[in-house]
Amino acid sequence: MTHRYRLYPSPAQLPVLRSHCGHARWVWNEALRAVKAHASDATVPFFDLTKARRETDWLAAGSSSVQQQALRDLTRALANAKAGTHRFPRWRRKGEDEGFCVRDVTVAIVNRRWAELTVPKARPMRFRLSRPLPEAYGMARVTLDSAGWWHVSFAAPQPPVDREPTGAVVGIDRGVASTIATSDGSLLRAPKLRPRERRRIERLQQQLARQHKGSRRRGRTKAAIARTHAHALRRRNDWIERRTTEVVRAYDVIAVEDLEVKSMVRAPRPKPDPEREGSFLPNGRRAKARLNRAILDQGWGRILRRLEDKAGASGVVVVRVDPAYTSQTCARCGHVAKESRESQAAFSCVACGRKRHADLNAAANILARGIASLAPTPGHGAGPGDRAARRSPAPAGSENLLVARVA
Ligand SMILES: [Zn+2]
Repeated sequence: MTHRYRLYPSPAQLPVLRSHCGHARWVWNEALRAVKAHASDATVPFFDLTKARRETDWLAAGSSSVQQQALRDLTRALANAKAGTHRFPRWRRKGEDEGFCVRDVTVAIVNRRWAELTVPKARPMRFRLSRPLPEAYGMARVTLDSAGWWHVSFAAPQPPVDREPTGAVVGIDRGVASTIATSDGSLLRAPKLRPRERRRIERLQQQLARQHKGSRRRGRTKAAIARTHAHALRRRNDWIERRTTEVVRAYDVIAVEDLEVKSMVRAPRPKPDPEREGSFLPNGRRAKARLNRAILDQGWGRILRRLEDKAGASGVVVVRVDPAYTSQTCARCGHVAKESRESQAAFSCVACGRKRHADLNAAANILARGIASLAPTPGHGAGPGDRAARRSPAPAGSENLLVARVA
Protein backbone atom coordinates (compact mmCIF):
# COMPACT_ATOMS: atom_id res chain seq x y z
CA MET A 1 0.00 0.00 0.00
CA THR A 2 1.08 3.57 -0.37
CA HIS A 3 0.73 6.57 1.89
CA ARG A 4 0.11 9.66 -0.15
CA TYR A 5 0.36 13.26 0.98
CA ARG A 6 -0.27 16.55 -0.72
CA LEU A 7 3.00 18.33 -1.44
CA TYR A 8 3.21 22.12 -1.41
CA PRO A 9 6.27 23.25 -3.34
CA SER A 10 6.96 26.98 -3.43
CA PRO A 11 6.71 28.72 -6.82
CA ALA A 12 10.50 28.82 -6.91
CA GLN A 13 10.68 25.05 -6.49
CA LEU A 14 8.28 24.22 -9.31
CA PRO A 15 10.86 24.45 -12.14
CA VAL A 16 13.09 21.93 -10.32
CA LEU A 17 10.21 19.48 -9.86
CA ARG A 18 9.11 19.91 -13.44
CA SER A 19 12.59 19.31 -14.78
CA HIS A 20 12.96 16.16 -12.63
CA CYS A 21 9.68 14.91 -14.12
CA GLY A 22 10.87 15.70 -17.62
CA HIS A 23 14.21 13.98 -17.13
CA ALA A 24 12.66 10.90 -15.55
CA ARG A 25 10.23 10.68 -18.45
CA TRP A 26 12.98 11.15 -21.04
CA VAL A 27 15.21 8.45 -19.49
CA TRP A 28 12.27 6.05 -19.19
CA ASN A 29 11.23 6.54 -22.81
CA GLU A 30 14.76 6.42 -24.23
CA ALA A 31 15.56 3.24 -22.31
CA LEU A 32 12.25 1.71 -23.35
CA ARG A 33 13.04 2.57 -26.95
CA ALA A 34 16.40 0.83 -26.58
CA VAL A 35 14.75 -2.24 -25.07
CA LYS A 36 12.23 -2.41 -27.89
CA ALA A 37 14.96 -1.98 -30.50
CA HIS A 38 17.07 -4.83 -29.14
CA ALA A 39 14.92 -7.51 -27.63
CA SER A 40 11.38 -6.96 -26.58
CA ASP A 41 11.54 -9.30 -23.59
CA ALA A 42 14.76 -7.98 -22.11
CA THR A 43 14.54 -7.25 -18.44
CA VAL A 44 17.56 -4.96 -18.26
CA PRO A 45 17.38 -1.84 -20.39
CA PHE A 46 20.24 -1.39 -22.82
CA PHE A 47 20.76 2.19 -21.99
CA ASP A 48 23.92 3.98 -21.01
CA LEU A 49 22.85 6.83 -18.79
CA THR A 50 26.43 7.96 -18.10
CA LYS A 51 27.05 8.33 -21.80
CA ALA A 52 23.77 10.15 -22.33
CA ARG A 53 24.61 12.58 -19.54
CA ARG A 54 28.05 13.20 -21.08
CA GLU A 55 26.52 13.99 -24.44
CA THR A 56 23.51 16.01 -23.35
CA ASP A 57 24.03 19.20 -21.39
CA TRP A 58 20.51 19.60 -20.07
CA LEU A 59 20.49 16.03 -18.83
CA ALA A 60 23.85 16.49 -17.14
CA ALA A 61 22.47 19.56 -15.40
CA GLY A 62 19.71 17.46 -13.82
CA SER A 63 19.89 15.08 -10.92
CA SER A 64 21.64 11.83 -11.74
CA SER A 65 19.92 10.06 -8.85
CA VAL A 66 16.47 10.96 -10.22
CA GLN A 67 17.53 9.73 -13.65
CA GLN A 68 19.07 6.52 -12.33
CA GLN A 69 15.90 5.83 -10.40
CA ALA A 70 13.82 6.18 -13.57
CA LEU A 71 16.05 3.51 -15.12
CA ARG A 72 15.59 1.25 -12.08
CA ASP A 73 11.82 1.78 -12.24
CA LEU A 74 11.80 0.67 -15.84
CA THR A 75 13.95 -2.35 -15.02
CA ARG A 76 11.46 -3.38 -12.37
CA ALA A 77 8.49 -2.74 -14.67
CA LEU A 78 10.06 -4.97 -17.32
CA ALA A 79 10.72 -7.68 -14.74
CA ASN A 80 7.08 -7.48 -13.58
CA ALA A 81 5.88 -7.75 -17.17
CA LYS A 82 8.08 -10.77 -17.71
CA ALA A 83 6.74 -12.38 -14.54
CA GLY A 84 3.24 -11.83 -15.85
CA THR A 85 2.02 -9.76 -12.93
CA HIS A 86 1.92 -6.47 -14.82
CA ARG A 87 1.50 -5.24 -18.35
CA PHE A 88 4.43 -4.34 -20.53
CA PRO A 89 5.57 -0.80 -19.69
CA ARG A 90 4.22 1.93 -21.91
CA TRP A 91 5.56 5.26 -23.03
CA ARG A 92 5.37 8.08 -20.53
CA ARG A 93 3.55 11.05 -21.92
CA LYS A 94 4.02 14.67 -21.06
CA GLY A 95 1.18 16.01 -18.96
CA GLU A 96 -0.11 12.55 -18.12
CA ASP A 97 2.50 10.56 -16.25
CA GLU A 98 4.35 13.30 -14.48
CA GLY A 99 6.47 12.08 -11.62
CA PHE A 100 9.80 10.84 -10.40
CA CYS A 101 11.26 8.80 -7.56
CA VAL A 102 13.72 9.74 -4.88
CA ARG A 103 15.74 7.07 -3.17
CA ASP A 104 17.06 7.42 0.38
CA VAL A 105 14.67 10.19 0.99
CA THR A 106 15.00 12.63 3.88
CA VAL A 107 11.90 13.68 5.74
CA ALA A 108 11.84 16.13 8.60
CA ILE A 109 8.76 16.45 10.74
CA VAL A 110 7.97 20.11 11.31
CA ASN A 111 4.95 19.73 13.57
CA ARG A 112 1.83 17.63 13.96
CA ARG A 113 0.43 18.76 10.62
CA TRP A 114 3.43 19.36 8.43
CA ALA A 115 6.64 17.66 7.38
CA GLU A 116 9.37 18.53 4.94
CA LEU A 117 10.70 16.49 2.06
CA THR A 118 14.08 17.01 0.49
CA VAL A 119 14.43 16.25 -3.19
CA PRO A 120 17.69 16.65 -5.12
CA LYS A 121 18.59 20.18 -6.21
CA ALA A 122 15.81 21.84 -4.22
CA ARG A 123 15.35 23.20 -0.74
CA PRO A 124 13.08 21.19 1.58
CA MET A 125 9.40 21.46 0.61
CA ARG A 126 6.41 21.03 2.84
CA PHE A 127 3.83 18.30 2.72
CA ARG A 128 0.66 17.98 4.72
CA LEU A 129 0.58 15.12 7.23
CA SER A 130 -2.98 14.09 6.47
CA ARG A 131 -2.19 10.72 8.08
CA PRO A 132 0.73 9.38 10.10
CA LEU A 133 3.93 8.64 8.24
CA PRO A 134 4.71 4.97 7.67
CA GLU A 135 7.18 3.59 10.17
CA ALA A 136 9.73 2.81 7.50
CA TYR A 137 10.19 4.36 4.12
CA GLY A 138 13.13 4.14 1.78
CA MET A 139 11.76 5.68 -1.34
CA ALA A 140 9.40 8.48 -2.19
CA ARG A 141 7.49 9.08 -5.39
CA VAL A 142 6.66 12.65 -6.30
CA THR A 143 3.80 13.06 -8.76
CA LEU A 144 1.82 15.81 -10.42
CA ASP A 145 -1.80 14.96 -11.05
CA SER A 146 -4.06 16.28 -13.78
CA ALA A 147 -5.61 18.75 -11.34
CA GLY A 148 -2.21 20.43 -11.03
CA TRP A 149 -1.58 19.15 -7.48
CA TRP A 150 1.70 17.70 -6.35
CA HIS A 151 1.84 14.64 -4.11
CA VAL A 152 4.47 12.60 -2.38
CA SER A 153 3.86 8.94 -1.65
CA PHE A 154 5.75 6.37 0.35
CA ALA A 155 5.45 2.65 -0.02
CA ALA A 156 4.55 1.00 3.26
CA PRO A 157 3.62 -2.54 4.25
CA GLN A 158 -0.11 -3.13 4.70
CA PRO A 159 -0.89 -3.44 8.41
CA PRO A 160 -3.21 -6.34 9.33
CA VAL A 161 -6.87 -5.66 10.02
CA ASP A 162 -7.73 -6.11 13.68
CA ARG A 163 -9.97 -9.19 13.58
CA GLU A 164 -10.91 -12.57 15.04
CA PRO A 165 -11.61 -15.61 12.86
CA THR A 166 -15.33 -15.73 12.07
CA GLY A 167 -15.69 -18.86 9.95
CA ALA A 168 -17.87 -16.83 7.58
CA VAL A 169 -17.57 -16.88 3.80
CA VAL A 170 -18.98 -14.39 1.33
CA GLY A 171 -19.36 -13.84 -2.39
CA ILE A 172 -19.03 -10.29 -3.64
CA ASP A 173 -20.36 -9.04 -6.93
CA ARG A 174 -19.51 -5.87 -8.74
CA GLY A 175 -23.09 -4.78 -9.01
CA VAL A 176 -24.64 -2.93 -11.88
CA ALA A 177 -27.41 -1.39 -9.83
CA SER A 178 -25.21 -1.08 -6.73
CA THR A 179 -21.43 -0.88 -6.34
CA ILE A 180 -21.02 -3.98 -4.21
CA ALA A 181 -23.51 -6.77 -3.61
CA THR A 182 -22.74 -9.47 -1.05
CA SER A 183 -24.15 -12.97 -0.91
CA ASP A 184 -25.33 -12.02 2.60
CA GLY A 185 -27.83 -9.66 1.04
CA SER A 186 -26.14 -6.27 1.36
CA LEU A 187 -26.29 -3.80 -1.49
CA LEU A 188 -23.74 -1.07 -1.01
CA ARG A 189 -23.42 2.08 -3.04
CA ALA A 190 -20.24 4.09 -3.35
CA PRO A 191 -20.62 7.86 -3.22
CA LYS A 192 -21.07 9.46 -6.61
CA LEU A 193 -20.68 12.95 -7.96
CA ARG A 194 -22.85 15.42 -6.07
CA PRO A 195 -25.44 17.24 -8.19
CA ARG A 196 -23.50 20.46 -7.79
CA GLU A 197 -20.26 18.83 -8.89
CA ARG A 198 -21.99 17.27 -11.86
CA ARG A 199 -23.45 20.60 -12.98
CA ARG A 200 -20.06 22.21 -12.57
CA ILE A 201 -18.34 19.57 -14.70
CA GLU A 202 -21.02 19.83 -17.36
CA ARG A 203 -20.61 23.59 -17.49
CA LEU A 204 -16.82 23.30 -17.66
CA GLN A 205 -17.02 20.73 -20.43
CA GLN A 206 -19.16 23.07 -22.51
CA GLN A 207 -16.61 25.78 -21.86
CA LEU A 208 -13.80 23.43 -22.88
CA ALA A 209 -15.48 22.72 -26.20
CA ARG A 210 -15.40 26.41 -27.05
CA GLN A 211 -11.77 26.98 -26.09
CA HIS A 212 -8.82 26.78 -28.45
CA LYS A 213 -6.67 23.68 -28.25
CA GLY A 214 -3.45 24.32 -26.39
CA SER A 215 -4.59 27.64 -24.96
CA ARG A 216 -3.92 28.64 -21.38
CA ARG A 217 -7.61 29.03 -20.64
CA ARG A 218 -8.28 25.54 -21.87
CA GLY A 219 -5.54 24.22 -19.60
CA ARG A 220 -7.15 25.95 -16.64
CA THR A 221 -10.57 24.53 -17.51
CA LYS A 222 -9.11 21.04 -17.77
CA ALA A 223 -7.48 21.41 -14.36
CA ALA A 224 -10.77 22.62 -12.88
CA ILE A 225 -12.57 19.55 -14.23
CA ALA A 226 -9.86 17.30 -12.85
CA ARG A 227 -10.08 18.97 -9.42
CA THR A 228 -13.82 18.42 -9.23
CA HIS A 229 -13.35 14.78 -10.14
CA ALA A 230 -10.56 14.53 -7.57
CA HIS A 231 -12.93 15.55 -4.77
CA ALA A 232 -15.44 12.88 -5.76
CA LEU A 233 -12.67 10.29 -6.13
CA ARG A 234 -11.43 11.06 -2.66
CA ARG A 235 -14.88 10.45 -1.16
CA ARG A 236 -15.15 7.24 -3.14
CA ASN A 237 -11.70 6.08 -2.01
CA ASP A 238 -12.48 6.79 1.64
CA TRP A 239 -15.62 4.74 1.23
CA ILE A 240 -13.61 1.89 -0.34
CA GLU A 241 -11.15 1.94 2.56
CA ARG A 242 -13.93 1.65 5.14
CA ARG A 243 -15.90 -1.01 3.29
CA THR A 244 -12.94 -3.24 2.47
CA THR A 245 -11.84 -3.17 6.12
CA GLU A 246 -15.37 -4.17 7.19
CA VAL A 247 -15.45 -7.05 4.73
CA VAL A 248 -12.01 -8.36 5.70
CA ARG A 249 -13.00 -8.14 9.37
CA ALA A 250 -16.25 -10.04 8.86
CA TYR A 251 -15.22 -12.96 6.63
CA ASP A 252 -12.52 -15.62 6.56
CA VAL A 253 -13.02 -16.35 2.86
CA ILE A 254 -14.03 -13.82 0.22
CA ALA A 255 -14.94 -14.87 -3.31
CA VAL A 256 -14.73 -12.19 -5.99
CA GLU A 257 -14.97 -11.94 -9.74
CA ASP A 258 -11.64 -12.30 -11.50
CA LEU A 259 -11.29 -9.08 -13.42
CA GLU A 260 -8.68 -10.39 -15.83
CA VAL A 261 -10.99 -13.02 -17.28
CA LYS A 262 -13.88 -10.61 -17.41
CA SER A 263 -12.94 -8.85 -20.60
CA MET A 264 -12.34 -12.12 -22.43
CA VAL A 265 -15.31 -14.06 -21.22
CA ARG A 266 -17.88 -11.35 -21.20
CA ALA A 267 -17.06 -9.75 -24.51
CA PRO A 268 -19.40 -11.81 -26.71
CA ARG A 269 -22.31 -11.43 -24.33
CA PRO A 270 -24.89 -8.74 -24.95
CA LYS A 271 -23.71 -5.38 -23.69
CA PRO A 272 -24.93 -4.51 -20.21
CA ASP A 273 -28.05 -2.45 -20.32
CA PRO A 274 -27.23 0.91 -18.73
CA GLU A 275 -26.10 2.25 -22.09
CA ARG A 276 -29.11 0.95 -23.96
CA GLU A 277 -31.58 1.86 -21.29
CA GLY A 278 -30.05 5.30 -21.29
CA SER A 279 -30.79 5.80 -24.95
CA PHE A 280 -34.48 5.94 -24.12
CA LEU A 281 -33.96 8.56 -21.51
CA PRO A 282 -33.62 12.28 -22.00
CA ASN A 283 -30.06 13.26 -22.77
CA GLY A 284 -29.47 14.92 -19.43
CA ARG A 285 -29.92 11.72 -17.54
CA ARG A 286 -27.66 9.80 -19.85
CA ALA A 287 -24.92 12.34 -19.42
CA LYS A 288 -25.35 12.12 -15.66
CA ALA A 289 -25.03 8.36 -15.76
CA ARG A 290 -21.92 8.64 -17.89
CA LEU A 291 -20.21 11.06 -15.54
CA ASN A 292 -20.95 8.87 -12.56
CA ARG A 293 -19.75 5.78 -14.32
CA ALA A 294 -16.41 7.39 -14.96
CA ILE A 295 -15.99 7.60 -11.19
CA LEU A 296 -17.36 4.18 -10.35
CA ASP A 297 -15.80 2.21 -13.18
CA GLN A 298 -12.31 2.56 -11.86
CA GLY A 299 -13.55 1.78 -8.41
CA TRP A 300 -13.85 -1.96 -8.71
CA GLY A 301 -10.18 -2.49 -9.48
CA ARG A 302 -9.33 -0.51 -6.39
CA ILE A 303 -11.82 -2.44 -4.26
CA LEU A 304 -10.23 -5.70 -5.36
CA ARG A 305 -6.71 -4.47 -4.78
CA ARG A 306 -7.48 -3.15 -1.31
CA LEU A 307 -9.40 -6.31 -0.40
CA GLU A 308 -6.46 -8.45 -1.46
CA ASP A 309 -3.90 -6.26 0.28
CA LYS A 310 -5.81 -6.23 3.55
CA ALA A 311 -6.80 -9.89 3.35
CA GLY A 312 -3.22 -10.90 2.62
CA ALA A 313 -1.99 -9.05 5.71
CA SER A 314 -4.75 -10.46 7.92
CA GLY A 315 -4.87 -14.17 7.09
CA VAL A 316 -8.09 -13.90 5.08
CA VAL A 317 -8.41 -15.84 1.83
CA VAL A 318 -9.53 -14.12 -1.37
CA VAL A 319 -10.62 -16.48 -4.16
CA ARG A 320 -11.01 -15.18 -7.68
CA VAL A 321 -13.63 -16.93 -9.73
CA ASP A 322 -14.62 -16.88 -13.38
CA PRO A 323 -17.40 -14.30 -13.67
CA ALA A 324 -18.91 -15.80 -16.84
CA TYR A 325 -22.71 -15.96 -16.69
CA THR A 326 -22.92 -15.19 -12.98
CA SER A 327 -25.58 -12.61 -13.79
CA GLN A 328 -27.64 -15.00 -15.96
CA THR A 329 -27.44 -18.09 -13.78
CA CYS A 330 -30.11 -18.86 -11.21
CA ALA A 331 -28.43 -19.29 -7.83
CA ARG A 332 -31.16 -21.71 -6.74
CA CYS A 333 -31.59 -24.12 -9.68
CA GLY A 334 -28.52 -23.31 -11.81
CA HIS A 335 -30.49 -22.61 -14.97
CA VAL A 336 -28.66 -20.24 -17.33
CA ALA A 337 -30.75 -17.90 -19.46
CA LYS A 338 -30.28 -14.29 -20.32
CA GLU A 339 -34.08 -13.91 -20.28
CA SER A 340 -33.97 -14.50 -16.52
CA ARG A 341 -32.32 -11.14 -16.17
CA GLU A 342 -35.49 -9.08 -16.39
CA SER A 343 -33.86 -5.69 -15.88
CA GLN A 344 -30.88 -4.02 -14.26
CA ALA A 345 -32.06 -4.91 -10.80
CA ALA A 346 -34.46 -7.83 -11.23
CA PHE A 347 -33.62 -11.48 -11.71
CA SER A 348 -36.50 -13.86 -12.30
CA CYS A 349 -35.57 -17.44 -13.18
CA VAL A 350 -37.40 -18.66 -16.28
CA ALA A 351 -36.97 -22.26 -15.08
CA CYS A 352 -37.86 -22.26 -11.37
CA GLY A 353 -39.50 -18.87 -11.00
CA ARG A 354 -37.11 -17.64 -8.30
CA LYS A 355 -37.20 -13.84 -8.05
CA ARG A 356 -34.33 -11.93 -6.54
CA HIS A 357 -32.31 -8.77 -6.82
CA ALA A 358 -30.03 -9.42 -9.81
CA ASP A 359 -26.85 -8.34 -8.00
CA LEU A 360 -27.60 -10.53 -4.98
CA ASN A 361 -28.27 -13.49 -7.24
CA ALA A 362 -24.90 -12.94 -8.92
CA ALA A 363 -23.15 -12.62 -5.54
CA ALA A 364 -24.64 -15.96 -4.49
CA ASN A 365 -23.25 -17.55 -7.68
CA ILE A 366 -19.83 -16.09 -6.99
CA LEU A 367 -19.89 -17.49 -3.47
CA ALA A 368 -20.85 -20.96 -4.81
CA ARG A 369 -18.00 -20.89 -7.32
CA GLY A 370 -15.58 -19.73 -4.65
CA ILE A 371 -16.57 -22.60 -2.36
CA ALA A 372 -16.41 -25.07 -5.26
CA SER A 373 -12.90 -24.01 -6.15
CA LEU A 374 -11.76 -24.29 -2.53
CA ALA A 375 -13.17 -27.79 -1.99
CA PRO A 376 -10.74 -30.60 -2.80
CA THR A 377 -12.38 -32.77 -5.46
CA PRO A 378 -10.16 -35.81 -6.07
CA GLY A 379 -9.91 -36.80 -9.70
CA HIS A 380 -11.44 -33.61 -10.96
CA GLY A 381 -9.76 -30.89 -8.95
CA ALA A 382 -9.19 -27.90 -11.12
CA GLY A 383 -9.29 -29.99 -14.26
CA PRO A 384 -10.57 -28.73 -17.59
CA GLY A 385 -14.15 -29.55 -16.67
CA ASP A 386 -14.18 -27.26 -13.69
CA ARG A 387 -15.31 -24.10 -15.36
CA ALA A 388 -15.60 -22.00 -12.27
CA ALA A 389 -12.04 -22.42 -11.14
CA ARG A 390 -10.35 -23.00 -14.44
CA ARG A 391 -9.29 -19.49 -15.12
CA SER A 392 -8.63 -18.33 -11.62
CA PRO A 393 -4.91 -17.75 -11.15
CA ALA A 394 -4.44 -20.34 -8.40
CA PRO A 395 -7.11 -23.01 -8.73
CA ALA A 396 -6.06 -25.61 -6.19
CA GLY A 397 -4.07 -25.95 -2.98
CA SER A 398 -5.36 -23.82 -0.19
CA GLU A 399 -2.13 -21.95 0.42
CA ASN A 400 -2.10 -20.89 -3.22
CA LEU A 401 -5.57 -19.52 -3.01
CA LEU A 402 -4.44 -16.39 -1.33
CA VAL A 403 -4.16 -14.23 -4.36
CA ALA A 404 -1.98 -11.30 -3.58
CA ARG A 405 -1.01 -8.97 -6.34
CA VAL A 406 0.83 -6.29 -4.51
CA ALA A 407 2.50 -3.71 -6.66
ZN1 LIG B 1 -34.02 -21.14 -11.05
